[in-house]
Order: sequence, then structure tokens, then C-alpha cells
Amino acid sequence: MATPSNSNSPATGEAGNNRVNPERLYTLWELATRQHPDDESRIRAILAESCQAMGLDIALVGEIGNGEYRIRHAYDAARRFDVDMALPLADTPCQSVVEREETVFQPDLAENSALGALPVISQLGLQVYVGTPIRIDGRLWGVLTFAGAATQHVSLQQEDLAFIELIASWIGMLQKQAMQNASLQKLALTDELTGLPNRRAAEARLQEEIARARRHNQTFVLGLVDLDHFKLINDRYGHRVGDEALASFAGFFLEHLRAEDWVARWGGEEFLVCLHTADIGEAESVFQRLREALRHRPFETSAGAIHLTLSVGLAQFDLDKDTQDMLLASLDSNLYEAKSRGRDRIISSTHGLGMLQMATLLKAAAAEGRILAAYQPIVDLSTRQVVADEALARLQTPGGEILPAASFIDAAEGLNLMAEIDSIVAALTMGRCAQNLASGALSQQFAHFINLSPQFLARRDLVQKLLARAHEYCGSCGVDMGPVKPIVFEITERQAIMNLNTLEEDLKYLLDFGFRLALDDFGSGYSSFLYLSRLPISFLKIEGWMIQNMQYNAKALDLIKSLVDFARNQGITTIAEGVEDEGTARRLQAVGVDWAQGYHFGRPELLEAKPAR
Ligand code: GH3
Ligand code: MG
Ligand code: MG
Repeated sequence: MATPSNSNSPATGEAGNNRVNPERLYTLWELATRQHPDDESRIRAILAESCQAMGLDIALVGEIGNGEYRIRHAYDAARRFDVDMALPLADTPCQSVVEREETVFQPDLAENSALGALPVISQLGLQVYVGTPIRIDGRLWGVLTFAGAATQHVSLQQEDLAFIELIASWIGMLQKQAMQNASLQKLALTDELTGLPNRRAAEARLQEEIARARRHNQTFVLGLVDLDHFKLINDRYGHRVGDEALASFAGFFLEHLRAEDWVARWGGEEFLVCLHTADIGEAESVFQRLREALRHRPFETSAGAIHLTLSVGLAQFDLDKDTQDMLLASLDSNLYEAKSRGRDRIISSTHGLGMLQMATLLKAAAAEGRILAAYQPIVDLSTRQVVADEALARLQTPGGEILPAASFIDAAEGLNLMAEIDSIVAALTMGRCAQNLASGALSQQFAHFINLSPQFLARRDLVQKLLARAHEYCGSCGVDMGPVKPIVFEITERQAIMNLNTLEEDLKYLLDFGFRLALDDFGSGYSSFLYLSRLPISFLKIEGWMIQNMQYNAKALDLIKSLVDFARNQGITTIAEGVEDEGTARRLQAVGVDWAQGYHFGRPELLEAKPAR
């Protein structure tokens, strides 16, 4: 069997002359130093000009891997070969270059039955073949191929083969540079700690998203996620543990996103998320699910498990109006709002279709009896008996899905529909209270907490309606209750502070009737003490964040202690929110907190939902 000759036995075309051609080396030099827009065109030029210089038709740079010869650069005037084409290595003469790891030169393929029989050779009528290994750092990376049909003009000599090998090593060098650049670029675009794209990469991706959205007339939603009170984690456990928490948070994110969405580290403990969903409501549910998953999943670090909560600003790209800056500005302001409203929540832009849809959904739900109440138990910490519950609004979609309050309360507030929702939840709860009293299921000492928004309190008509209902229920339950009624209204400083004089006046009717007041979210803002000094508060609900942090934040614990002392002196019952474990419950009891509420004692439960339509 004939084997291809190699560079050690330079062959000469029969009809060629043997003149040494120093011009070729000069050509190489010139090509290598000439200005080219990029390496791609530089390599193409050198392939083309070498072919012409040697009287050949085809020049290919191909990478070897997975049993394939994948073409990376090509010169072929007849365009039989092109970039990205992959040929089975065994079907090409390059196979023998790979086996020998040296130049293979075959001046007349017809004389070599093994190579000549390859379909790619016989079908294209090729007669001359030169293949040279391309090495990177001494290891075979690919093969530089020259081939031609017409032997009569070809005369390759030792010098030409040296020339070809020079080109191969030069291409190897360029290839190495390209690979280094690519990995450097990847490094420059990747956040070292989390492995996520960094801010620079995110900005570039965002530009692409916007261009694509405009091209396809299809919008997307961005989320800016900030970890709540992350500084405390660093203060308490040290920066290294903070880093571990950030890295596992990135992993958690990746697990929970769809393949087509992406997340980047936007800065410190902020992450930018891009969701390919045109609907802000859908994006909200994605983040709701994420928050829900976080509740059940502490992050394992070398200092133990750490719970994190998120604040999220969401914004949908408005194809008609938005620029990248506007989009980022509304994201920022939504995140800011999420923070200032007490953290651990999602705030969406209040513009565009999402809001309109939400308004329709809310109005229909209110009209069709799909605003429901879920009840979360409140226990006495010393007896561990359930002594009260809190009514929390739920929205049932026409499809039967139950949405938690967090997913529609902000929209309801923005749309001025909060008063309506409060009114419905209050009516449901009073009805249930009357029923339980009448049946003897619950005693009149069992308190029902109902949230009332400032919007509700400002609606004299709704307040009067609520009182009329209360009279009705009180008459119906047949229990003689005396001056104190088992309903407690929670008011919060979470919403914008209003005129306290009006608030006192608005509350007067309810208090005169015998309802009591609870101050909600204590610790989330600055005006709590003002409320406390001006209003006849009976219960003080300490914000979940303070509770969850008191175990490693001495200040939070001190604050709770002094609150308890103050409340006790004033005859106010203290209630801890967001209690999630027994250790916390014990500590709260030890500092004298009266009651507690949280997942440790029970989740909000829906008593009855309407069947789906
Ligand atoms: P907020 O709820 O208002 O967001 O409070 P915060 O403490 O999370 O936010 P703030 O912006 O005040 O502080 C951010 C903290 O995140 C401060 C900084 O030490 C920490 N942080 C930022 N980048 C890193 C990081 O790479 N590693 C660690 N361990 N901590 C970081
Ligand atoms: Mg921050
Ligand atoms: Mg933060």
C-alpha cells in the first residue's frame, strides 16, 4: 500500500521548475505585518495569497476534535468548503497528519490509493495535498490543509513546505492569542465570587435585549434584587461568610430561573434579573415563588444556616417609551420603594398593561366575591394556646389560583382599591366571628385582627357601613359582650403618614363601639412612637425583621426588651411577628413578649375558597 510521502522527502511536481522563490517568504512577512481589521481577515488573506503563490485552489484551517475536522478558516474560490463545516476526520487526508503529527505531502494523489480513494479527494478531482499540524503550546490543535486540482502548474519544494509550516505555526500563535483573549474577555465579564455575569456584561446584555425587543416587538421584564440588611450578616459573621452566602444565593437563583432568563451580579448584594415574559404579573409570581422558596431554605455557610430575605424592584420595558436609562431608573425607584415600605417585598412599576390588568383583576374579584380572607393563628407565649388570629387578604383568580396579599396589595393601594379590599375582609371576618361566637366554637376572649389601611379609614361611608354591619352581627350572635368587642383593627405606619388628627377622628367611631387597635409593623419606620403616644393602642405588633435578627443583633434584642417594658407599663399587649422557630419563641418569652405569630405556630389558612369557574 502506498503511503503519502512526507516533508522529509520533498517532492517536485513533474512539470514544475525548481527555482527557489524567496518572494514567498517576503509575502508571508508582508501579510503578517500588513494592517488588517482583524485576525479573521488576516488569516483569510494569507490563505488566499499562499494558494495563489503556490498555484493551489484550496486552503483550510481546521480544528481537530471529536473525530472531526471542523473548518475555522477557509479559502476556496469554488466555495466547496466553508467556515464551520465539519468533516469526519477519517474521511479526510488530515487523518494521516494527525496520526503522524507531521507534514504530509502528496504531489499526486492518484499515486496513493489510500488517500486517492477518499470521496472528498476523488469527487473533487484533487491531485495535490499538503497537510501540516497546527500546534498550540506543543499540542496538536488542528491541521492546515492546502490542496489543488492542477498538478501541471504546481511545483512544491522543501522551501515551500517550510513556508507552509511557518504559516501553520503563525496561525497556531494567532489561535492561541484568540483563545487567550476569549478567556480574558470571559474573565472580564464574569463576577469572580458568584460566577455570574458582572455588571459590564449585564449592561451589554441589556442593550442586546432592548434591541431584540424592539426588533421583535416583544417586551421583557427586569428585576433588581437586593438582599435585605446584608450588612448585618457581614457584621455578625464576617465578610467571608457574607461571601459564602452571596455565592450560594447566586446558585439558588440559577436553580430557580428558566434557561432563557438570566441573572447577573449588578453590584455588592444586588442582582439584575431579566425575564422573557411580557407580563409583569407573571414576573411577580416568579419572584413570589422565589421568595417563598427562600423562606424554606436557609443558606448553609461555614457559620451555620443563614436566612435571607429579598427586596425586589420590577419594571417592564415599554417598547414605545422606554430607554435603557429610563428602565433602570424605574427599577431603582421600585427597589427603593420596596426598601422603604419595610423590605422583603416586590414592587412593580405602576404603569403599562400590567397595572391595567391588575386593576381589572382586582375589580372583578371584588365584585365576584373572590377576595377572601386567610387566618393566621396568634398564640400566647406563656400558655402556647391560640388566643387570636389575623385575617389576611387573598385574591382568587378566575382560574382558581389563590394569590397572596403581597402580590396585589401594592397594586391595590396604587389603584385606590385598598379600602374596598379592607372592607370585604373586615366583613368576612366579622361574619365568621359572629358565627363562632353563636356556635360556641370560640370564646369572646378570642380576638380577631383585621388590617385597615389609611385609605379605608378616610372613607367615612365605608367606616359607617362597617359599623352598621358590626351592630348587625353583634345582634345576631346573641352573646352579651360588654364594652370590649373581640375585633382588633391593625393600623400601620407602613403607608405614608397622614394627618394624625384626622386619623384619631376617623378611628373614634370604631373605638367608641368597643373595637381595639393594634399598631402593626412596629419597627419598620420612624413614626411608630408618634402613633403610640397619640392613639389608644392596645396591641403592639413587632415587625418580623426585628424578631428574626434579634438572635444575632444585640441592638434589636435590647430594643425589643425596652419596648416590652414600655408596653407593659402602658397596659399594651406585645405580639411578635414572623416567629419561625422554637428558639426564637423561647427568647421572646424570656424577654417578656406576650403573644407571637409566625410559621412556627401556623401559616395563614384559607377556610373556604370558591370553586374555580
Ligand atoms: P438594605 O436592606 O437596605 O439593603 O441593607 P443592606 O445592609 O443590605 O444594604 P447596604 O447597601 O447598606 O449594604 C450592603 C452591604 O453588602 C454592605 C457590604 O458590606 C455588603 N457587601 C457588598 N458586597 C459584598 C461582597 O462582595 N461580600 C460581602 N461579604 N459583603 C458584601
Ligand atoms: Mg444594597
Ligand atoms: Mg441590601
